[in-house]
Amino acid sequence: MLGKILIVDPIATNRIMLKTKLGPAFYDVRQATSVADALDQAKQDPPDLVITAFQLTDADATAMLDGLARGQSRRRIPVIAIGENESAALRQLFLSRGARDVLVKPLADSLLLSRVRSLIRLYHANEEWHVRAETSRVFGLSDPPARFQAAGHVQLVGSDKGLNHIWAGQLRRDTPHKISLAAPEDAMKGLSGDGIPDVFVLVLTRDPAAVTRQMHLISSIRSNARTRYCGIIVVQTTADPDVAANALDMGADDLMPQGFNLEELHLRLTALLERKTQIDRIRASVDLGLREAIFDPLTGLYNRRYGLAEMTRQTSEAKSDDLPFAVMMADMDHFKRINDQYGHAKGDAVLVETARRLRSHLRPRDMVARMGGEEFLLLLPATWESTATAVANRLCKTFEHTPFVIPGIAEPFTVTISIGLCMISRADLTGCDISLSAIDWADKALYAAKNKGRNRVLLGRPAA
Ligand code: GH3
Ligand code: MG
Ligand code: MG
Repeated sequence: MLGKILIVDPIATNRIMLKTKLGPAFYDVRQATSVADALDQAKQDPPDLVITAFQLTDADATAMLDGLARGQSRRRIPVIAIGENESAALRQLFLSRGARDVLVKPLADSLLLSRVRSLIRLYHANEEWHVRAETSRVFGLSDPPARFQAAGHVQLVGSDKGLNHIWAGQLRRDTPHKISLAAPEDAMKGLSGDGIPDVFVLVLTRDPAAVTRQMHLISSIRSNARTRYCGIIVVQTTADPDVAANALDMGADDLMPQGFNLEELHLRLTALLERKTQIDRIRASVDLGLREAIFDPLTGLYNRRYGLAEMTRQTSEAKSDDLPFAVMMADMDHFKRINDQYGHAKGDAVLVETARRLRSHLRPRDMVARMGGEEFLLLLPATWESTATAVANRLCKTFEHTPFVIPGIAEPFTVTISIGLCMISRADLTGCDISLSAIDWADKALYAAKNKGRNRVLLGRPAA
């Protein structure tokens, strides 16, 4: 099943008519006749979409919208209101109370189905972000600060320059948004940073050939990495249910088939921006969570968890490539003395500079992870022993000959490092947990390097 839809209508024939349209499209359709019954069902087993008549047996659709909003903390089940004698005022009333759309009978099947598809798809996509955000929270990863965005950047895209200017003027006067203008062929040009709109309002022309071209803009917005999460509202200057259905299927968030109407556009923009702000925030928190899960916050290097996972991955890659790779454990010499002499904060600054030096001496495909304290794991894939030894020695020499210059400490000072190196070739990869053993061998070599006087590289052998 593609989703659960709750139809709320006191008239049996209306419910049956909708069910016969939606059932064959693989939706699980439930029915209710009153607001109380609908709210009860929504609580027991939440649907993915509610389609409601304007008037129910016990109250009207606004009571249902209010009830649904009260019953849900963050996730709002989308609601479509369907009725006959619809007027702009009634449409605005339902939209202002949280309806996602208001449709008028007779309904074109194509438009109804694409509206349903689009709302359920968006609802599920957002649901997925909510779930990921929950997971991040379970891991104890942080939420970015809340930011409610009442005003956004709206780009009005249309071919009729004169009309565009008039509507932009009205939007600037009566809404808090920053309004920019573009012709359809220029809308994606030169978008960067702050210039990326939160919402594109695409005004379709009356000319059918031009409409097809303009509709391509929807796929361009959705397939561009910088604009894929932007909102899209399509305004039709000529009602055409097939074009409308197409726009929704291509990824438009919202649609105004009745043409430009300032109040209605304002309501739709506000609702879209509110949803977008919430999802942007969740997305940022998941991104932040992922960053925290794999990076060391002090040095910006990968952390131990990622380092070990990468070691396992490299091992299996080396098996299929038949190329040796190098594993190094590097540890700073007498680091405790730095802390003792200059304080922990200066010690941190030395660690940050050490991370930078290690990273800058390696190829992009090599990996450096901070395993803890002042200890680092270096993985160099597809590397022969002679190269690995040369790289390790060069690192030691760099530290020996380049004193640290740390703000707040008058004199530059030298800190050396010791490195334990272990080479892994295909012959060594028959054991099952080679990745952990390789780190052990590198560790043993590091320990030996410390015992021999520090500031040196020692090679450990897998068989040793
Ligand atoms: P060795 O040459 O034998 O490696 O001596 P060492 O002093 O470097 O090693 P030891 O393990 O005795 O001490 C490591 C020190 O690193 C102790 C700890 O205070 C310090 N350290 C660990 N993590 C951090 C950190 O995040 N910041 C700072 N400033 N110091 C840290
Ligand atoms: Mg040390
Ligand atoms: Mg150490």
